[in-house]
Amino acid sequence: MKKEVIGSRIEVQPIAGFDQALTYAISRELIKVVQVGSLVRIPLGKRNVLGLVSSLSSQEKLESSKLRHISSLVQQEPVLSKELLKLAKWMCRYYSCSMEVVLEAMIPAVVREGKSAKTERQLKVVSRIDSERIVKELNRSPKQKVLFLYLQKLGKPIAKREVMSRLVIGDQVVKGLVQKKFIEEFEEVVDRNAYEDEYDSDLDTVESVLKLTEEQDHAVRFCTKLLKEKKFSVNLLHGVTGSGKTEVYFRAMKEALNQGGSVLFLVPEISLAPQTVSRIRSRFGKQGETVVVWHSHLSAGERLDAWRNLATGKARIVVGARSAIFASMPNLRLIVVDEEHEPSYKQEDTPRYHGRDVAVYRAMLNQAVCLLGSATPSLETFRNVELKKYNQCVLTKRIDGRKLPLVHVVDMRREAQRERNIPILSQTLVEAIRQRYADREQSILFLNRRGFNTTMLCTECGNVERCKDCSIALTFHRTDGYLRCHLCGYRKTAPRVCSSCQSIEVHKKGHGTQRIEDVVSALMPRRAIVRRVDADLMMKKNLLRETLQDFRTGRIDVLVGTQMIAKGLDFPNVTLVGVIDADLPLRMEDFRASERAFQLLVQVAGRAGRGDRSGEVFIQSYAPHSSSIQFARNTDVYGFIEEEMEMRRELEYPPFRHLIRHIFRSRNEEKADFYANQWRKILDQEPMEDILIKGPAPAPLEKIKGYYRFHLIYLTSSVKNCLAQLEKKRESFPLDPQVQDILDVDAMQMN
Ligand code: ADP
Ligand code: ZN
Ligand code: ZN
Repeated sequence: MKKEVIGSRIEVQPIAGFDQALTYAISRELIKVVQVGSLVRIPLGKRNVLGLVSSLSSQEKLESSKLRHISSLVQQEPVLSKELLKLAKWMCRYYSCSMEVVLEAMIPAVVREGKSAKTERQLKVVSRIDSERIVKELNRSPKQKVLFLYLQKLGKPIAKREVMSRLVIGDQVVKGLVQKKFIEEFEEVVDRNAYEDEYDSDLDTVESVLKLTEEQDHAVRFCTKLLKEKKFSVNLLHGVTGSGKTEVYFRAMKEALNQGGSVLFLVPEISLAPQTVSRIRSRFGKQGETVVVWHSHLSAGERLDAWRNLATGKARIVVGARSAIFASMPNLRLIVVDEEHEPSYKQEDTPRYHGRDVAVYRAMLNQAVCLLGSATPSLETFRNVELKKYNQCVLTKRIDGRKLPLVHVVDMRREAQRERNIPILSQTLVEAIRQRYADREQSILFLNRRGFNTTMLCTECGNVERCKDCSIALTFHRTDGYLRCHLCGYRKTAPRVCSSCQSIEVHKKGHGTQRIEDVVSALMPRRAIVRRVDADLMMKKNLLRETLQDFRTGRIDVLVGTQMIAKGLDFPNVTLVGVIDADLPLRMEDFRASERAFQLLVQVAGRAGRGDRSGEVFIQSYAPHSSSIQFARNTDVYGFIEEEMEMRRELEYPPFRHLIRHIFRSRNEEKADFYANQWRKILDQEPMEDILIKGPAPAPLEKIKGYYRFHLIYLTSSVKNCLAQLEKKRESFPLDPQVQDILDVDAMQMN
């Protein structure tokens, strides 16, 4: 008996709780239209789920078989290009997570649902008509006449809904005119272009009047040359604040567009980059480009439109935070990562990818140019420059030789002698803020990211008790009175005298800063308005924007905020910037603490004094002579990098090795602790290749949302090799169902 040819086979990656691509049968009709990247529905167990076509097995004829058939085609047009599919596969391997979570991060929910673009009924006057005759004819239907005249005068289509509400007319009126064939009703795709009106369209200087500085010109030529070569490259644009990096990005973007390519522009946090977004919109809008702003607050409809505009090439520029790196764009030529050193490029949830690193990989897959910009590049990026993997361009001068603000370092040890409690604000700073208020000028006070635990600080010499092996601050545990290292688990009893100067002024200092707004308010004249911007506020879209807007328009006198508001915000009336706890990051349980402190200080010192008035910066510190403060004060990036690199090299921390954090968490503290320790024993059974292991230790934030957390740290020169070894051991290590373990590759947060 001759077997019937019923179709072909295809590989489909389910996007629903299944981690492997599966083989399905597909009919002869469908195989003609389906493509790699198409969305389909497939039977999976008893469910019917969404899947992404991951490969088409070529031409193979399928005869009647047991294979299940795909149920339907959701969207033919690929939702992921071949490069993005490759990127997804790489992310799965590198960040050790499932394909499913990667696809969910890459493809917005609204696109996965296969929804179509929004259309709306439109009205317009039919062409070639004798309008005078019609108007006469309509004399007996006054409402129809009004509508007709309105549409005629408008001379272009308008949404039916809108015209009905403007003229206060009902559906009947429209119907009447349509039936008489005087006007037409039709359907059109409408764009919900978010944010459109929010950005000042004339913020940007006209390109033609700008004469590039010599340094800018050099950087632009460099980028242009690379873009012309159409080869993959990564380039660090290292330029001091105010050196005109944005103009360099813009010229490179223009070149990419001229080549018919598209551009991806990443910023650390979209709501904190309003100026950058406005400038991009303004500059490229004038050149006829549609700019898509991609951010987490887009409505489903807006997101769908944005996605379509990019996928079809209607919009060739996307600007957004890290998830914009997955934007589906044909012919991607350039990826700009602004403020590449920002930790917020790392996603702190599965998939735990680093937006900058994914950008580099994507650029490689697309043979595109990747441009990383910063005034204080990360050590990782500097290391790659050192290794000649990345090129570097430098802008050493500020535009117009603008003056840097005056920087005062306030010695908090002296303040502590004067007061009985450990002071939050020094007398010097309080007086300066009051003076600004009296002069009707504004101030910004920076707090560092909140410290989680209590550390031991000597207010006499500024010394902090540290772990000998890990060089991070030890934290005090109330429960047993020990000081503990949160990386390796080392512990010792809390000393009664300072281990550096033998003073008895060693204090357990917690860094709770929630009350800071109140403290500042209390110290200011009664009518002064003090507001705080923090992570909680960030969650509320409008509140954050309103607060920043109020500050810009002068309705707030003192803005208190964390590091996240340090970058890119230009407020001409701000003449004072205070850093309340400059060395708090130095005390934190994170080996990147001094790098972060340095970056904040440089950013802060670079931002005041951008208006006509000169600015002043106050840095409060218990270690005023420490190198990060001194290097920052002189904006000596290379001095700092050199010293910090040396320390990292000695301790084998990133960028010399990759750091993988392995978290064990459970609602049951003992179990989390026990399994973390058991795991360490398994690892120690036989030597592992190229992996340094620290821990387990309780995580600095030992309990989050009811989960107790313990972690181990692996330092390795090859993530791939390390993960392979871990996975092998993990197979024979059954975990209690109440305990979960999570791998965070290239972890940025140690909390
Ligand atoms: P950065 O991003 O390096 O901190 P910006 O790109 O914000 O610096 O530039 C600082 C300011 O200098 C901006 O107002 C910009 O318009 C202006 N600017 C940039 N390049 C030039 C130039 N070649 N001539 C005059 N002004 C410039
Ligand atoms: Zn001391
Ligand atoms: Zn340690």
